[in-house]
Amino acid sequence: MGFLAGKRALIVGVASERSIAWGIAKAMHREGATLAFTYQNEKLKERVEKYASQLGSDLVLPCDVASDEQIADLFTSLGRSWDGLDILVHSVAFAPREQLEGNFVDAVSRDGFRVAHEISAYSFAALAKAGRPMMKGRNGALLTLTYIGAEKAIPNYNVMGLAKASLESSVRYLAQALGPEGIRVNAISAGPIRTLAAAGINDFKKLLDFNDRTAPLGRGVTIDEVGNAAAFLCSDLASGITGEVTYVDGGFNVVAIGLNYA
Ligand code: NAD
Repeated sequence: MGFLAGKRALIVGVASERSIAWGIAKAMHREGATLAFTYQNEKLKERVEKYASQLGSDLVLPCDVASDEQIADLFTSLGRSWDGLDILVHSVAFAPREQLEGNFVDAVSRDGFRVAHEISAYSFAALAKAGRPMMKGRNGALLTLTYIGAEKAIPNYNVMGLAKASLESSVRYLAQALGPEGIRVNAISAGPIRTLAAAGINDFKKLLDFNDRTAPLGRGVTIDEVGNAAAFLCSDLASGITGEVTYVDGGFNVVAIGLNYA
């Protein structure tokens, strides 16, 4: 029996087989969780339904996190099938492409800033708020995905770094607010991984190569490695951990100058 047996998990953020959320879904399924999924728009619906069925799930619901109505409807629909929710995975980010290239000061705009923060940071608090009644009193766990660009300046990551800083702060505030209800809130700071979202960052390949050269493990991480850490953090094995950002980055964050710096 897996360490998530009996748990119900809602996975928000699968768009392809490369999605980090897909790695998380696979690991949670392997450990015995029952899964539900969301899709951002009609274009992704069929694809997400196909992935969900691979993991024995036919609970696939729409949710564009830009819409309060869709967020509310998501939990109303989920409540028709499930009488409670144990795990909510938020693996969502977006900024307009022109925000993710070049000099930060040149690129930043009021609208780009707003969109990046709304979709990539506010949506986590919004889902926590809407999911709270279903999660209360069941040792629930919320998890989101962040990147080291929240703490350190990274070329081209620009306004997404600011949004991730807000997201990481949200993890701490949500942990404090929901702790008394037995709900834990954590983030994983993943190393760079080739996904659809990552493709929007200018020169992402350079970032990947630098990471591989610099990280103590000398390589990038996989969605399965992130998935395994996510499954642990959302399980009762991690019952004493909340408000934390856990790195799954091959150790990149602990290094100033890598062994292969030349
Ligand atoms: P991805 O493109 O597979 O996933 C991003 C998801 O966000 C997609 O499923 C997309 O549908 C969803 N999304 C975007 N706007 C949305 C909206 N308005 N409503 C609902 N969903 C929306 O890419 P990914 O790399 O797996 O990204 C998942 C998370 O991991 C993001 O938060 C990302 O910042 C984070 N992350 C990625 C990396 C990386 O290198 N890939 C590293 C660290 C953290």
